[in-house]
Amino acid sequence: KKNVLIIGAGGVAQVVAHKCAQHNDVLGDIHIASRTAVKCQQIIDSIHEKNALKNPGVLEGHGLDATDIDATAALIEKTGSQIVINVGSPFVNMSVMSACIKTGVAYLDTAIHEEQDKICETPPWYANYEWKRREECEKAGVTAILGIGFDPGVVNAYAKLAVEDYFDKISSIDIIDINAGSHGKYFATNFDPEINFREFTGTVYSWQDSKWQSNKMFEIKKIWDMPVVGESQTFMTGHDEVHSLSQNLDVPNVRFWMGFGDHYVNVFTVLNSIGLLSEQPVTTAEGQEVIPLKLVKACLPDPSSLAPDYTGKTCIGDLVKGTKDGKETEVLIYNVADHKDAYNEVGSQGISYTAGVPPVAAAMLIATGEWDVKKMANVEDLPAKPFLNLLNGMGLPTRIKDANGDRALDFS
Ligand code: NDP
Repeated sequence: KKNVLIIGAGGVAQVVAHKCAQHNDVLGDIHIASRTAVKCQQIIDSIHEKNALKNPGVLEGHGLDATDIDATAALIEKTGSQIVINVGSPFVNMSVMSACIKTGVAYLDTAIHEEQDKICETPPWYANYEWKRREECEKAGVTAILGIGFDPGVVNAYAKLAVEDYFDKISSIDIIDINAGSHGKYFATNFDPEINFREFTGTVYSWQDSKWQSNKMFEIKKIWDMPVVGESQTFMTGHDEVHSLSQNLDVPNVRFWMGFGDHYVNVFTVLNSIGLLSEQPVTTAEGQEVIPLKLVKACLPDPSSLAPDYTGKTCIGDLVKGTKDGKETEVLIYNVADHKDAYNEVGSQGISYTAGVPPVAAAMLIATGEWDVKKMANVEDLPAKPFLNLLNGMGLPTRIKDANGDRALDFS
């Protein structure tokens, strides 16, 4: 199974395309399709500039409205693509999935489906759209891997690894995401501001004592001492992987913690309090209708423009607690990535890098058959080691910190 169609031409797609080019011996032809065709061409130019294609091969861009299922299916067929890596906006997920089911090809995404006009879904989020289509995928023999970025994605594989190798019984998984990098701007989001803010304007759902707990954003704060980046302030946040891990693994506590500095919290709080993060239209005195969130997005820096000057590191991992051989134990399974290294390799900042490399590793495992499961799966449903093994060699090495010290994990 090969030939890849990448949907979207944003920050994450740039990384996906570069990594596919570096591995086109396994993945075959590479096509990039997005609403704005010129953005696909810019990515293609950057791949040629870096001479990133491993073998001479097809690398083409296409203009596409991915909400048009027939047009997307036609492009899949025209390009002979067997694997679709959807890194467009999460509003297109269900239509791209429909096109994959229609054509019988593999589907990958990195975020849960969202509807433009719905700010917060009820838990578990995957049950609202994706899991409703499990039978459809299985009937069509379609491999659909959900949420295969870093978080969700790699952190789900870390949780699976903990289950497989380190515990008899797990009591808690705390997923901790720290970006200790600096972009030098007064205020910016690391990916699409619209998506980024939507993550923090709804209810914060966590899985505690085997039931859903709701809180407000920035209500629960915790400082973690993480490798390399040190003591970091985080807040409990709602996140895709809490929703799948809570249902798929037998673990009573699953929480997600996102690092935020005081400056981010202050600016966010001001914007949110005065209604500037609302997706509901307002009418100006001049009679013009404006969606505040869209206006704020238009004023903020384009996330991909942050890449050249971004410095510092990210540290993302799972702190897992439980018992092994009757003894209480805890492990931190994590990765550290560097913004500058990401820029030098693929022209993107570290957040896009950590999100864009994993779906390419997954596509390779589909191409080789190891993850070609012919049904819908979250990452924790799949064997973790082949995936983490590939990532070790693709720029996202796994480390572990436990009673035996802090070390790289080798799965080969
Ligand atoms: P961007 O906003 O930079 O890129 C989104 C792309 O999708 C743009 O090229 C946009 O085109 C395109 N697009 C939007 N609507 C359509 C449409 N109807 N048809 C075709 N193309 C469309 O986002 P990112 O690259 O930062 O993020 C991509 C995805 O990755 C998101 O779903 C995000 O949530 C997810 N993500 C996941 C992470 C993880 O670790 N799991 C981390 C970070 C992001 P145009 O430019 O024309 O608008």
